[in-house]
Amino acid sequence: MKCFYAPETEGHDPQFRLTHGTVVHNAERAERAMLLLEGLGRLDLGTESPPEAPRAALEAVHTPEFLRFLETGWDAWQKLPNAGPEVVPNVFPRGPVTTYPETIVARAGWHMSDTSAPIGPKSWLATRRAADCAVAAAEAVMAGERAAYALCRPPGHHTTADVAGGHCLMNVTAIAAQHLRQAHSHVAVLDIDVHHGNGTQAIFYDRADVLMVSVHAETHDYYPFYTGYAHETGSGAGQGFNLNLPLPRSTTTPGWLDAVDRGIERIKAYAPGALVVSLGLDAHENDPLDGMKVSFDGFAEAGRRIAEAGLPTVIVQEGGYLSPDLSTSLTSFLGGFLGKDPRAA
Ligand SMILES: [Zn+2]
Repeated sequence: MKCFYAPETEGHDPQFRLTHGTVVHNAERAERAMLLLEGLGRLDLGTESPPEAPRAALEAVHTPEFLRFLETGWDAWQKLPNAGPEVVPNVFPRGPVTTYPETIVARAGWHMSDTSAPIGPKSWLATRRAADCAVAAAEAVMAGERAAYALCRPPGHHTTADVAGGHCLMNVTAIAAQHLRQAHSHVAVLDIDVHHGNGTQAIFYDRADVLMVSVHAETHDYYPFYTGYAHETGSGAGQGFNLNLPLPRSTTTPGWLDAVDRGIERIKAYAPGALVVSLGLDAHENDPLDGMKVSFDGFAEAGRRIAEAGLPTVIVQEGGYLSPDLSTSLTSFLGGFLGKDPRAA
């Protein structure tokens, strides 16, 4: 299986996050990539650096204003008096706001939903290269590979067409799915990150050509809080093409696998030309974000069942945070998907 990784993504290494009014260490750190690479290594999977994707692949998902903000925002921020080292918004628009703001302070709030994805000097290059990985994996599958994996950092599934958040910058899952549409009339996304894929949902919510399925922890008391309910089923032409499968906090492996099965069944009925797995590994029982209690064997079994669906599959890395178990979680999922016993790997 082809795996794509770009070392430039390590340049995005956010230092800041505000939780419950307290400044805490950001869990989406560059070290995550080292742990994920270690996980690939245990399956003897090497990586290749992707070519630069055409800008049109990004613009097919994100607005020009959003891309310009990501690309130039840090430079503009540094010209502010008493500017901090990272772009972190401190004002957010509410209500019927229609005028695109002029200043970088207002634009930061316009384009970011929270404080968890600070933009540093190398964040644009990092998210650009992460998107390159997603497009390269989609291209590999379009060229006939059974599956490909994109080690994307920062992740993407909380970002809408023009608003980033939840540790995410560009929506790498949506970029992969949209790119696959060049070869397939219908594409499905299966998001198994412990958090609801609110950004991906928003991007495809009124479309029937991309089915979005998300298995996640219930959001009434968990990020992203405002979306992820079962009654969100799509709108307009997209009605019936968004399936949310929320589970109670601390759900263990059997309940989680049942929901993954329901998602796979919906996807099989949809009969897409290709599948994007939005692979968060933060449902693991030892993940610091403490959403669910899925075991390594659970990830392996999910990989096995997703592979059995028999679809050309792009696997895009999403969440899964700093923990010694992150490597083994990836080895377990991909080992299951590839039919290799992860314990022997
Ligand atoms: Zn997550």
